[in-house]
Amino acid sequence: MKDSELLTSVSKTSTDSEFFSPMPPGYKPGKTKYLFVMGTVMSGLGKGIFSSCLAKLMQDKGLKIAPIKLEGYLNIDSGTLNPFRHGEVFVLDDGMECDMDLGTYERMLDQDLSKANFCTSGQIFNDVLNKERHGDYLGRDVQMIPHVTGEVKLRLRNLAMKTNADIVFVEIGGTVGDLENAYFIEAMRELAYEEGPNSACFVALTYILEPQTLGEQKSKAAQLGIKQLMQLGVQPDIIACRATHAVTETVRQKISVYSNVPFERVISLHDSASIYTIPAMLRDKGLDFEVARLLKIEDRLNLRHERKSWAQWCDFTDRIDAAQKPVTIAITGKYTSVRDSYASIINSLEHAGIALGAKVDIKWIETTGISDTNVAQHLADVDGIIVPGGFGTRGAEGKICCVKHARENNFPYLGICFGFQMAVIEFARNVCGLAGANSTEIEKDCENPVIDYLPEQLKIEGLGGNMRLGGFDIELKPDTFAWQLFAKAHTVRMRFRHRYEVAPRYIETLEKAGLVFSGKAPGQPIMQILELPQHPYFVGTQAHPCLTSRPLRPQPMFVGLVAAAMQKHYPKNDSPDCVTAVRNLCS
Ligand code: GLN
Repeated sequence: MKDSELLTSVSKTSTDSEFFSPMPPGYKPGKTKYLFVMGTVMSGLGKGIFSSCLAKLMQDKGLKIAPIKLEGYLNIDSGTLNPFRHGEVFVLDDGMECDMDLGTYERMLDQDLSKANFCTSGQIFNDVLNKERHGDYLGRDVQMIPHVTGEVKLRLRNLAMKTNADIVFVEIGGTVGDLENAYFIEAMRELAYEEGPNSACFVALTYILEPQTLGEQKSKAAQLGIKQLMQLGVQPDIIACRATHAVTETVRQKISVYSNVPFERVISLHDSASIYTIPAMLRDKGLDFEVARLLKIEDRLNLRHERKSWAQWCDFTDRIDAAQKPVTIAITGKYTSVRDSYASIINSLEHAGIALGAKVDIKWIETTGISDTNVAQHLADVDGIIVPGGFGTRGAEGKICCVKHARENNFPYLGICFGFQMAVIEFARNVCGLAGANSTEIEKDCENPVIDYLPEQLKIEGLGGNMRLGGFDIELKPDTFAWQLFAKAHTVRMRFRHRYEVAPRYIETLEKAGLVFSGKAPGQPIMQILELPQHPYFVGTQAHPCLTSRPLRPQPMFVGLVAAAMQKHYPKNDSPDCVTAVRNLCS
């Protein structure tokens, strides 16, 4: 069935019945199981991390998993959200701009997701109102229940059909008790009933307070949060208690007594040093088999598959402890106070570091105060530099100073999107001698607009979704450094999110002066990867390679950067050169 059919399919309602539960054609209730994850007490408990780790354990058992995040806000996507408030905007291959949790699912499951895996209230209401105008509700007054909840259920069932999933993992944004997600919880309650016994499993994530003055764990807030969920008609099957330290038996017993959840299913989910060790924590508590039992899918498990996947995963987590050689990578950026704004980059560095046995320390550099006179001082103790994606003028000149310093002093450099553009501007100014070279995003009427608006983006109006978005192929130029990094492939696919590009009329001048554009859009003059041949590691890309790095498949550009940084830091050591390192690790 085509996407378009799935998204519009709706069983028409009638005025003589109160029942309204749209299903895609051919849908069989009870075939796909649903696991709902919701948070109580407060937000920011790491629902996405918990849910993706549990999903990974079920996927290891040979089950097909489809995650979906339900967001309460009215935006259609995350495109216009400020990463300072909401964390990074994650971009999927189909161009969907979504919540950073989708990045966590992609990394944990090593699976590409699509727009069907992300749903906001904005999308739900938009669809309901369009259907109302289209006359799909046949004379009925359109209500939150059953029509809006019906639309939510339809989304989940469409996802189940589209992916043929064994389990749809549904993560509900926000906290139980929020006005904006209450109708999601109601929809889950209805869905669980309609799908039949053993079709749904409710997991409540809660928080155990540990006031310093008392020095003991208190469960009252958690109890009240769970009570609130039960008042909405939802009986949790599993309660995961987030806490700083391991949750005591007494607290777990108390929660069990108040919630009708058996003691073994009230688990401690205390802080851990790496998110990659959480699957083992859940597995040790037997949560994976509890879920299989609750959903009655024991007969679908493939334990041979699990043994293999788990062994691979443990090889990876064993390397986390062994990754001890410190290297420091500087990241320049505007949102330096919130790590979530750079979650994918941090993850990519971690993947590359673990693969190479390096412990990557990140030094955050706010570039508003950086100039040619103090840049050396700021970068004195770092082994490599990343200028990440960004928008607007603030700190741009400081970033250009960092690029210059990296180029002139053989500092390993990786420019991502905006960082790629900054590298072009720096090269145009200081090597090609193009006075006033700049991006029209920064200076509209600059003398030499080497970075300019993409012509096709000019046609799109409004701020939402007017960027060049999603996965595109990059054609690699044979015999270049990038071509070697990517194992001499003809093309590689990466994800993009930009409005500006290298202005085609400057390409020849830049190339003549020694800048190599080693990756381009096939059949179009859009420059996508650059490099400096005489430099140990000077690479930039208009794409966001961080969006496709996975724990077991680190992204070559990051592996190359960390390998080059290690060579800089440990010159006498026999750490492999970056191309060899990438070849060894990213086959
Ligand atoms: N602001 C630049 C552009 O729109 C870079 C975007 C980014 O870094 N994501 O092209």
